[in-house]
Formats: sequence, structure tokens, C-alpha cells
Amino acid sequence: MKINLDRLLTDIEKYAEYGKNQHGGVTRPSFSEADHSVRKLFINELEEMGLRVTIDGAGNIWGRHYRKGNKEGSIVIGSHLDSVPNGGKFDGPLGVLMAKEIVKTLMESNVTLDHDLEIISFTAEESNDFNLSTFGSRSFVGRLNAEMLKEARNSEGILLSEELEKVGGGLAQFPIMEDMRRDKKAFIELHIEQGQRLEDRDISMAVIDTVVGTYRSIVKVTGESNHSGTTMMDHRKDAFTAAAEMVLEVERYCKQFKDDVVGTVGKVEVFPNAANIIPGQVKFIFEVRGKKEEKLEHAVNRIQEVWQEIADRRQIEFIQEVLLDQKPVVFDKGIVNILQSTASEMNEPCLTLPSMAVHDAAHMASITRAAMVFVKSIGGKSHCPEEYSHPIDIEKAGNLILKGIINLDRHFLD
Ligand SMILES: [Zn+2]
Repeated sequence: MKINLDRLLTDIEKYAEYGKNQHGGVTRPSFSEADHSVRKLFINELEEMGLRVTIDGAGNIWGRHYRKGNKEGSIVIGSHLDSVPNGGKFDGPLGVLMAKEIVKTLMESNVTLDHDLEIISFTAEESNDFNLSTFGSRSFVGRLNAEMLKEARNSEGILLSEELEKVGGGLAQFPIMEDMRRDKKAFIELHIEQGQRLEDRDISMAVIDTVVGTYRSIVKVTGESNHSGTTMMDHRKDAFTAAAEMVLEVERYCKQFKDDVVGTVGKVEVFPNAANIIPGQVKFIFEVRGKKEEKLEHAVNRIQEVWQEIADRRQIEFIQEVLLDQKPVVFDKGIVNILQSTASEMNEPCLTLPSMAVHDAAHMASITRAAMVFVKSIGGKSHCPEEYSHPIDIEKAGNLILKGIINLDRHFLD
């Protein structure tokens, strides 16, 4: 039994027409016109397949395939259909459309599962105008509740609650999600890698066993502003050269760990930011991501010790405000093992990797057994029109999940 690759690829192209822009990319944020149309299409297709469609409070779309099996609850597969502005065809839709393809394949092959199978398309996974990324999954698992969201507005002042009602959800329906959670036995999300670890090793796919933790802080470095001509080099307290040394330390430290820890300073502001004034203050955002909690903590502490040495030597000061301190998420060992042994049965090489970015599965892991599968990305590109995965890799990953679900259903879940 195999997924129908041609049908899936046609589907991916069809969905990419919704929100297609003149740069060849897809602009389909949740609640946009393109999102409304793609939701309509998706719901119609699920209904045509004979699935029972439910839209929960967060506007997440569920399509349930009843098997009349003898075990309670459902196995859920899916991802998200929203995109970043000028994004690609694969980030999100690949997971949702593959879920649809897998259910179709099982139906055509007359395979009976003991559990129901459910397709999910989560709302607003990507960063969005409401500043609520992974909105749908966080709401579903109860990390966001109606009280927290009732005043949420986008940059145009439009209430999130109104947007939810337009897609069939609404804050009043949030409590129902509590009951819905109980019946989810497992969740598997297929996603493109968005990195180059698989390409570097020339392997099509990986089972994801962890989502890295993220530490993010805003660092304020204070020196002394002064005249750039009359202040001799020895008399300066240049906040920017100090910050530059601090930033280089982030890179130097993290480079030692290869794939395990990554560190970035992605945003910098220099004050007063004038050509003839020595910078008196610099603000930057420091981020470290790591797979293991201890390693991540150690990285943050060690980098800060070196920063202190830099500050002492240069006679500047720095303070930090923590913006985010998210622990790594460990996925379900049982599902990871089943997916790995399924890959072995198929004779397909398959790595086990951490995910360096947060996905809906990281939140779903708080309410059910969850794991992810990554497909090789070409050039590691994502969130851009060039985002691409080879059909052959997509096919292998799809078949892995298809067979993995059957193994999970029969031999693992009760
Ligand atoms: Zn995504």
C-alpha cells in the first residue's frame, strides 16, 4: 500500500493557487480572504470524502474518519494551511494535504483501523497580525483561553473574536475543546525540515523526538556617548564595539556544539545612531535554542559570564530582560520508536533529529502522545517562494506515516 504521489502533488499545486502572489509565493495568513477560500475548499473536500467535519472554537478544522473500530479515541494527523506573507507551497499544507492523502489511501485499500483517524488543520500557526503564533494548537490544548483572548486585536483594531466567528469558531465554543482533547490518542505532524541537516547527509526524512527550548532576552548595553573626533581611543566607552564583542561571543560559544545549540542576535538598535557620535547605548535581542535543558541553561550562563568579562574590561554595563524561557519539548518515545521501526521495515534510512523551531505538535504533546516527521528541504529554504522538497522524499515520508499509523493503531495504542 502506497500513497498516490501524483494526486498529492496536484493537490499541493491546487492549494498554492489560494493566496498566490505576483512573486510566485503564497500569502495566506489566517482570516485573510485567501484563507477563507481555502477553508471552504478544504471543508468541501473533507465532506466529499465522507468525513465528519467539526470546526472548534479556535477555527481549527477537524475531519473525522469513523472506522467503527473496537478502540476508543482517534489518531490525529495534520498541520496548518496558513502561510507567512510571500511564503512557499509546503510549510503547513504538506502536512495537511498528506493527511488527506493518507486517509484516501486507507479508504481505497479498505484497511480497517481500530481507532478513528482524524485530519486537522490548525488556525494561525505562523506569526500573524494578532501576535499569536501557533494560535490554534495553543487554544486547543488550553494554553490560550477565552478570557486571555477576549480583547485581542490586530494592527487594524479588529477583534480576534470577530475573525473567529467568521470562520465558524468563537470564544464561546472554547470550553468544548476541553472535552475534545480527551479523545485524542496520538498526533503526528509531517513538516518540511526548514534546515539542511537532512540534505547534508543526503537522507530523505527524519523522525523528530524533541522540539528545542528557546531562551530570548533583550540586552541593554550602556557606555558613554561622546564626540567621535575629540575622544581618543583609550578614553572611549563605546557601547557598540562592546556589543559587537558580545555578539561574536554568542557565535563562538554556540559553534562548538554543532547541531545541539544555536545562538543568534537578530535585532540591534544603536543609540544615538549618528555618524559623529560614539554609541552610548545598544539594545539587542539575544536568542539561544537547544535540545537539552541543561545544555541550553549552561550556554546562557556561560555566554553571560564572558559578557561580564567584556563589560568589566571595557568599563561598560549591561542589563537583560528575559522575553522567553521555553523548555525543550520531548516527544513520545513510543511513537518515535514505532516510526523508526516502520522506516526499518521499509528499508528506508531515517534520522532522529530535534526540531529547531516550534510547531503545533509541540503544544499537542501536552495533551496526547505526539511526534513529528520531517522531509528534506532543498537548500534549507522556507518561508519564501523557493521553498521546495523533492517528490521522492515526500513520497517516502508519506508512506512512513501511512504505515506508521497502522502499526501504531494495531500494536501500540490501546
Ligand atoms: Zn509550518
